[in-house]
Amino acid sequence: MGIATEESAGQPAEPSVPGVSEGSEGASGTAGATGAPGTGEAVASGAVGERVRVPARPAALSPSRAADFMRCPLLYRFRVIDKLPEKPSSAATRGTVVHAVLERLFDAPAAERTAPRAKGLVPGEWEKLLAARPELAELFTGEDGAHDADRLATWLADAERLVERWFTLEDPTRLEPADRELYVETVIEGAGSSGLTLRGFIDRVDVAPSGDLRIVDYKTGKAPAPQFRSEPLFQMTFYALVLWRLRGRVPRRLQLVYLGSGDVLTYDPVEAELLAVERKLRALWEAIELATDTGEWRPRPTKLCGWCDHQAVCPEFGGTPPPYPLPVVAPRAGG
Ligand code: SF4
Repeated sequence: MGIATEESAGQPAEPSVPGVSEGSEGASGTAGATGAPGTGEAVASGAVGERVRVPARPAALSPSRAADFMRCPLLYRFRVIDKLPEKPSSAATRGTVVHAVLERLFDAPAAERTAPRAKGLVPGEWEKLLAARPELAELFTGEDGAHDADRLATWLADAERLVERWFTLEDPTRLEPADRELYVETVIEGAGSSGLTLRGFIDRVDVAPSGDLRIVDYKTGKAPAPQFRSEPLFQMTFYALVLWRLRGRVPRRLQLVYLGSGDVLTYDPVEAELLAVERKLRALWEAIELATDTGEWRPRPTKLCGWCDHQAVCPEFGGTPPPYPLPVVAPRAGG
């Protein structure tokens, strides 16, 4: 099975990478936000302005975390169980701002959903994000500790260009989304020891007069080459499975809108494929539960390690992981 390309600007494609994949699980899935649905993270209140990360067993799967485990089980552990902090990413933060703009634009009457209006929303959405996450200011702080206004201006202009490109791919004056930034959650019974909760945020759901569902996901990066499309396809079929379970209807179309390259990729899933995704997720969850119980989280080095924030505590790079914070309740393999 493959994804159809509706439009292509003929620009080079690139695989998504951790931290800059610009995927959307709402604000939770970008810019390293913590404590939101979809991340499987637990954040408790500490001193004023301080977040206390509480180690906990994995409670649910989102597309991003499932992809983490498939990419590198140790990376999954660092993110979901140890909750090790990660540096804010300029690309992911830009993705959060662009997603917010594309969501907010639909608040306006159809005729007023213009490119200038959308671009005009960019600075305000950035200010809102910065107010919620002041640590993002470091993205625009020079080595001397001073605010780098030029870097911020360039970054905002890049965000505006991505927003503007969207108007060459879709016409928001002719769209009336049924849902925007939709939080979805469902439980797959009989998976693992106590069922599997699937959750995530869907950028946009369109419903045709016939009742057909279209799931739309915005990416601020470039469309990947065909050989690297399995990860975005997995993310979209994950959402399709969840929406099917919630609404009793297999989504008619899955649509990825790549603002970085001006591509729209579509895929029309069938029931058998979503059942196969469910089987895959069940197996994945069993593997995650086994690793949680044994404390065996193996590193799986790939070229994507270059984007990993955790090399200093990764055995593949001479580091030592922090002590495993959960009780080991099952013997290690061969032990
Ligand atoms: S550096 Fe590579 S192998 Fe190590 S945790 Fe990160 S992704 Fe996994």
